[in-house]
Amino acid sequence: IQRIAVLTSGGDAPGMNAALRAVVLAADHYNIEVIAFRHGYQGLLDNEHVVLEPKDVLHVLQYSGTIIKSARCKLFKEDAAAITAAQNLDALSIDALIVIGGDGSLRGADHLANHWSGQVIGMPGTIDNDLYGTDTTIGYATAVNIAMDALDKIRDTADAMDRVFIVEVMGRYAGFIGLRSAMAAGAERMILPELQKDKPLTVSALVKHIHRVKEIRGEGSYVMVLSEHQWPGGAVALAEQLDAEYDLPCRPCLLGHIQRGGPPAPADRILASELGVHAVELILRGAHRVMAGMRANQCVEVPLNESWEKKNPLTENLLRIQHEIFNPVKKKQRNK
Ligand code: ATP
Repeated sequence: IQRIAVLTSGGDAPGMNAALRAVVLAADHYNIEVIAFRHGYQGLLDNEHVVLEPKDVLHVLQYSGTIIKSARCKLFKEDAAAITAAQNLDALSIDALIVIGGDGSLRGADHLANHWSGQVIGMPGTIDNDLYGTDTTIGYATAVNIAMDALDKIRDTADAMDRVFIVEVMGRYAGFIGLRSAMAAGAERMILPELQKDKPLTVSALVKHIHRVKEIRGEGSYVMVLSEHQWPGGAVALAEQLDAEYDLPCRPCLLGHIQRGGPPAPADRILASELGVHAVELILRGAHRVMAGMRANQCVEVPLNESWEKKNPLTENLLRIQHEIFNPVKKKQRNK
């Protein structure tokens, strides 16, 4: 192995820079050259590449975003695009490619592997934590920290004004950020894709819950975590409805892309660092079409297709605790 390539693709995730740094330092350690394609698969098609040396990744791990840029590239789903990408990689004598991104990016990596003979390795880089085979993904811990921090701040003002607040977080297909931030901040309610799928919450059931909590506690705040796309019109529409139709003073707060910025959490920097080295060492061991993952503190390799074909379910116990045991409105449980 003499030369490998790396790219970041899809939504950027805090820790991607730490992952790049680790790939470059590990490659340097094993005397391998690293070429980075800028702007994800788009850059791979446009042949937009730079050499990355250890000096290029000095002091980048404390920043979110990605120094080699990320992008979405619809065209890459086509066979012709993967063939062009393979030609570009061969023209540069690349032995292996590391793709850092979410499920779409890893699908793209697998698609490329159908048309290219080099080794293809994925790294889980997404705040959504929706990949199978790794306990967490790079960026997830930071996103949860940011959401928790926002919920704590909202609580101060919500409590002072005895208000209802709806904090909208990312995760339209998976409620990981919603569940963990709700638990970390002691939210009164969560509206997550997994819960909505089984039994969608009605506005009247929500209003009843809010009134019951206010009855039980006498006064105070009610803070709700809403995963994006789980309510028609989102947090703004729901807050307006509660305020206008049910006389419940309510305010929305949309966290949006704030969840992807600022200093990456230590857990993300360290996970990215370990997985970056693992990805390079997997290449040296001849691995192909796998994702570098971490399970129970052990580096693992996961077949690339399993990372998105298999579902990474929400932690059942956290869901039960937050939704039932910590629910301020108790269903009576029998205690034998
Ligand atoms: P996140 O969900 O965290 O934003 P992601 O990697 O899932 O990250 P996507 O926009 O789904 O983000 O995918 C990123 C890119 O991967 C796409 O723009 C496209 O270039 C490529 N890609 C996605 N799905 C496929 C596919 N089925 N075949 C080939 N390439 C794909």
